Amino acid sequence: MKKFVYLFNQGCAEMRSLLGGKGANLAEMTNIGLPVPPGMTITTAACKEYYQNNKKLPATIIEEVRQNLAHLEQAIGKKLGDEVNPLLVSVRSGAVFSMPGMMDTILNLGLNEKTVQALAKNTNNLSFAYDSYRRFIQMFGDVVLEIHKHDFEQLLSEHKKKQGVIYDQEMSAETLRAVIDSYKVLVLERTGSPFPEEPIEQLFLSIEAVFRSWNNDRAFIYRNLNKIDHELGTAVNIQSMVFGNMGNDCGTGVAFTRNPSTGENLLYGEYLTNAQGEDVVAGIRTPQPIAKLAQEMPAVYAQFAKIANILETHYKNVQDIEFTIEKGTLYILQTRNGKRTAQAGIKIAHDLAAEGLISKQDALLLIEPAQLDQLLHRQIDPEAKLDIMATGLPASPGAASGTVVFDANHAEELGKKGQKVMLVRTETTPDDIHGIIAAQGILTSRGGMTSHAAVVARGMGKPCVCGCEAIKINYHTKTFIIGQTIISEGDLISIDGTTGRVMLGLVPMKDPELSSEYLTLLDWADEYKRLEVRANADNPADAKRALDFGAKGIGLTRTEHMFMGQDRLPFVQDMILAENFEERSKALSHLLPMQEEDFYGILKVMAGYPVCVRLLDPPLHEFLPSMNELLIETTKLQMTGENMQLLAEKEGLLRKVRTLHESNPMLGHRGCRLGITFPEIYEMQIQAICNAAARLTLEGYTVLPEIEIPLTIGIAEMNFFKEKIDSIAKATMDKHKVTFHYTSGTMIELPRAALLAGELAESAEFFSFGTNDLTQTCLGFSRDDAEGKFLNDYLEMKILADNPFITLDQKGVGKLMEIAVENGRKTRPGLLIGICGEHGGEARSIAFCHQIGLDFVSCSPYRVPIARLAAAQAAISKGETYGTK
Ligand code: PEP
Ligand code: MG
Repeated sequence: MKKFVYLFNQGCAEMRSLLGGKGANLAEMTNIGLPVPPGMTITTAACKEYYQNNKKLPATIIEEVRQNLAHLEQAIGKKLGDEVNPLLVSVRSGAVFSMPGMMDTILNLGLNEKTVQALAKNTNNLSFAYDSYRRFIQMFGDVVLEIHKHDFEQLLSEHKKKQGVIYDQEMSAETLRAVIDSYKVLVLERTGSPFPEEPIEQLFLSIEAVFRSWNNDRAFIYRNLNKIDHELGTAVNIQSMVFGNMGNDCGTGVAFTRNPSTGENLLYGEYLTNAQGEDVVAGIRTPQPIAKLAQEMPAVYAQFAKIANILETHYKNVQDIEFTIEKGTLYILQTRNGKRTAQAGIKIAHDLAAEGLISKQDALLLIEPAQLDQLLHRQIDPEAKLDIMATGLPASPGAASGTVVFDANHAEELGKKGQKVMLVRTETTPDDIHGIIAAQGILTSRGGMTSHAAVVARGMGKPCVCGCEAIKINYHTKTFIIGQTIISEGDLISIDGTTGRVMLGLVPMKDPELSSEYLTLLDWADEYKRLEVRANADNPADAKRALDFGAKGIGLTRTEHMFMGQDRLPFVQDMILAENFEERSKALSHLLPMQEEDFYGILKVMAGYPVCVRLLDPPLHEFLPSMNELLIETTKLQMTGENMQLLAEKEGLLRKVRTLHESNPMLGHRGCRLGITFPEIYEMQIQAICNAAARLTLEGYTVLPEIEIPLTIGIAEMNFFKEKIDSIAKATMDKHKVTFHYTSGTMIELPRAALLAGELAESAEFFSFGTNDLTQTCLGFSRDDAEGKFLNDYLEMKILADNPFITLDQKGVGKLMEIAVENGRKTRPGLLIGICGEHGGEARSIAFCHQIGLDFVSCSPYRVPIARLAAAQAAISKGETYGTK
């Protein structure tokens, strides 16, 4: 029979997909002998059964829970609902992939009017017992009975006010009793039934509610954002309660084995004395730093530090550990791999390998390629003179500016309109997730480094300043006050999540410099990767940046970008408007020296490395003024009748624009079709490349130009241009009495070219996949329109799993690539093949390129580090070693 429930001592870390991350880790910790309160996990498979069974727990699972509960009761010596020695449990979600705060938790389950008295008696602490009971009713009321938690909080505030106290722990037993009574009245009013007294009923209702919370709005949004499969389901962990709120020798906290912001190897976290877990995460009271525990409870701190070390060594990764201290005894409630900033991620991966805890390969696998991006984020210029209004906790690094917005919906609304907003809240809750996604940064007035805003922002790589208590927010007036200054919604502020500073207005920002650990890790990546990483660059400055980031060549120089320069545009327009060969040749003769200088610059910077130069690609009308503009101008000139010469010129231009107009320019007169119609344009470009190569060779540089023909459909075009390339190159070498190495090849951007790659390779000496166009033409999705029109529907309806313009469509486009690689290399063994579409800088697509045997990926200079890492990860994951190893 299928097993749906596991006691903690029956599981292990490898059972993550069945037990969820939390359940698997609780089992693992139990088995390595750590002090984990006993419990059981109901599997993710049970969650699926629950949904298949019309959101009802099947009787077999109910029975299995009951049987395991009996085991648990026997092991602990307490019984659920017992009037003398009652067992209290927590019921928590636990997904396979961590979804912090997105689903629901219920603590202190098992309390009712009788067991609460037993709890009071056993602990000799009536206030504690009542406090636990009121918390239980509140959580159960919110999660199971769906009564908004603010309604409970309002009652709580009223009672605190009545007693004249501020903090929860100051409430007397009488006040707590009154709170409980008022909560029960609220439940009766809202649900029409009294609060459930029977613990076993409480338990099953809670299990079902946790399963339901898998599909609440915020969990759904979170999964979409993080690309987590909606079908996975959550496990439910039922664990015997330990109490951090029984007095001042109790407490609860969260700590990382290393600093998750900087990576520094020091215990990092916070705790609250006399509190339960949710108090720390909710940011209601500002917690103490973990180092303080060493003074307050030295023995507990020492034990915790030892356990932290055991866990980090065991999991070979930084751990994020939740703990509770009950009457001086330490319990571990959860451990998981700690989420970290990109900066910390690099340092931690590097240090763990340097300390010998993991191999270099494992260190490389620990880094999320996209996180490298964050390190390239902007920081506040250290030289800038800042007017700092306030300082909070540096919760997530990077700097951002935006207009102040106080609620998530509004943030989302403005974000959609393209406005840069700063979400300012007292604290955030999981319901704010869409506002956080839309904002440039987050500023909160309450809560610590492990509060919701901090954790979520760090995960997204967004700047965040938390717990900035100097700001006083008033949601009604939509303002916040710092000292004497009033800041209103719509005002511009800047935050620095690296230091916690908050400033009015914009501040100067600067690109960051990369740490030595970052550079070392990328060197390690080069030791293991097979794919070469090149960059797409159109000018010497970008080429230099690419080299600095570790590119080993240029995979694509788009020459049309050179045609757009203001000094060239008049000649480019003359070339287009030329009525005959002579006129066109005249215009081209002006462009030749300019192009020669362009290629000279790039080839010189990249001396010793290959530079793939693509001949002109886009439709010619892109270099002319727009038809609408010309229409307006000519009409105005006609009406005034003042400048007839200008009018004639403009009319001529308009005529030409009209003749060049195409219904489908992306499928029109572009790519090598331009070179077929106007060979002299391509000849000029080939000549310019050869001239630059000859000059540089004479100057002592090694140049490796690769001349690339765009948008070919087959070998005939390639042959036509190859003949030209070879004859121009030969003539240039003869003229300058020099030899230089060059190759000619083609972009594979059209399905026909991919299918006929075997033939194409007879002429082409290299291929480079232009997957932007190949995606467009394979799927028949316009590159310009799909994303704005229908692609979102395709993604939401899961017709496509990913945006194919971002992540390579392996099934379709990838298939064409595989065919081209196989057939191309059959004709020309060792044929050099790369990719230069946007996918060349995206980790999953890079893994695919590795798999199908490409030689290089080429991407924008800023993505070169990501590509180096992703290429190494692809090789390591397949157990291969290349590169310098
Ligand atoms: C491509 O199509 O993938 C490509 C690199 O060329 P472009 O984006 O310039 O069309
Ligand atoms: Mg293209």
